[in-house]
Amino acid sequence: MSKDCLFCRIAKGEIPADIVMENDNAVAFRDINPRAPTHILVIPRKHVDSFEHAADSIDLGALMLTAAEVARREGLVDAGYRVVINTGTHGGQTVDHLHLHVLGGRQMTWPPG
Ligand code: 5GP
Ligand code: ZN
Repeated sequence: MSKDCLFCRIAKGEIPADIVMENDNAVAFRDINPRAPTHILVIPRKHVDSFEHAADSIDLGALMLTAAEVARREGLVDAGYRVVINTGTHGGQTVDHLHLHVLGGRQMTWPPG
């Protein structure tokens, strides 16, 4: 827990969020500025700055399985969806607490912008 971290504070319930799923490892909530009809962030409860620092600190598999469960619950499986981890400056990361974006409900394009 980092006391000034926005996503730690959401995970602790100190800042409101539209939470769609929680388990021992992770919290999933709707992005405040959705980039697709369904846009959910999946974060570890434990503070980890980025994907770069995940390996030693958290169970990435559990986090990814939570993202898959969120996609199932949101009805995204038949049409498909995308899971994204923006990392560092070139990756476009703006919040320094690891998060997976689960995006669905429209056709995604490739390559990403
Ligand atoms: P990044 O750009 O780091 O990959 O993603 C950060 C995401 O967090 C952005 O999509 C942004 O809209 C979302 N976000 C930033 N602040 C808040 C907030 O206070 N609440 C919620 N629900 N999402 C946030
Ligand atoms: Zn944090």
